[in-house]
Amino acid sequence: MMFTRSEFTSFRKNLLAWFRQFQRDLPWRRTKDPYRIWISEIMLQQTRVAAVIPYYERFLARFPDVRVLALAPEEEVLRLWSGLGYYSRARNLQAAAKQIMAQHGGEFPRDEESVLALPGIGRYTAAAILSIAFGEKHAALDGNVARVLARLGAIRGDLRESKRWQSLQNAAGELLDPKSSGDWNQAVMELGAMVCTPRAPQCLLCPVATFCRARQFGDPESYPEKRKKREAAKITLASAVFSSPRGRTLLLPPPGEKNGTPAADDVPALVSRMWHFPTVAIRKNPGEELRAYLGEFLHGRNGSLNLEPLAKVRHTVTFRNVTVFAFRIAMADIPQIRGAKSIRLDDFARLPVSNLTRKIARAALLPSSAK
Ligand code: SF4
Repeated sequence: MMFTRSEFTSFRKNLLAWFRQFQRDLPWRRTKDPYRIWISEIMLQQTRVAAVIPYYERFLARFPDVRVLALAPEEEVLRLWSGLGYYSRARNLQAAAKQIMAQHGGEFPRDEESVLALPGIGRYTAAAILSIAFGEKHAALDGNVARVLARLGAIRGDLRESKRWQSLQNAAGELLDPKSSGDWNQAVMELGAMVCTPRAPQCLLCPVATFCRARQFGDPESYPEKRKKREAAKITLASAVFSSPRGRTLLLPPPGEKNGTPAADDVPALVSRMWHFPTVAIRKNPGEELRAYLGEFLHGRNGSLNLEPLAKVRHTVTFRNVTVFAFRIAMADIPQIRGAKSIRLDDFARLPVSNLTRKIARAALLPSSAK
């Protein structure tokens, strides 16, 4: 950024004053507790603020400090995460909590090296926690902040290209207000979230508009340049929703739990890493391939199964478009499988299941006319 000293001063003053007056009142902004800030930063990765708030509050009510989180059963941590997606975040949180107990006496570390050594914490998250909780002078750079900087400096090209990213990191470091690093990082993030949005930035409301080169050039929305989109992989699955007259169904456990079910290796982890319906990856014929898979753990009793097709379920996660052909299989009794659970179809709240599994359950609960 090519600012003179006096421009630096007014740039920082304008942005901080705007943030202190207009910032949203968010639960994690009412604390300096590094544990709480850490949890919020991890939840906010890839998830919108409005969606995070209720999860944040429930999670902290159950796991109020690092010790309780470290000692909790993993299944409970995942259950309270259930619905937020990207479950590796929850597993890493707990692994990091254990590391903090073992190596730092239960105190969140204050130096960057130790923070970066915790599972699930990269440079951005470390900078955010250290600046907000401890006032350490680290500039946080993510896609949101990079967009704001690219517009301020009218920077063209792919921002994620490593040299350009490094120069953005340097620019973020130069701009950082050393006396208020936590507020400063949050102010830049807030500007990106509320004013300098990806589409239709509201330059008329922007506290730093006079410093913005993209605005001077007349088309701020054209910064940063669009990245080439990676094509999403298409994945087709078939799932079995067993259904008893008493409304019960069968769910299989995540891998690693002792069970008598054959592993369906090619089923993506987004399904099988949590409790899930029996599911198989499909090449051609969903009904036939699912029936063949079920035969493996129903010991040949699959021939007589009546597979009733449900509404198709679609699910999109990073770079993957998943289509699930779900089938209801009515049975007088839910098959007994070692390690599996028989559970009411409308009672998934007790178990950690993925959003995709929830969608399949909803399809099975729809009245026939709605399909
Ligand atoms: Fe973003 Fe417009 Fe402000 Fe520039 S003037 S930083 S483009 S909101």
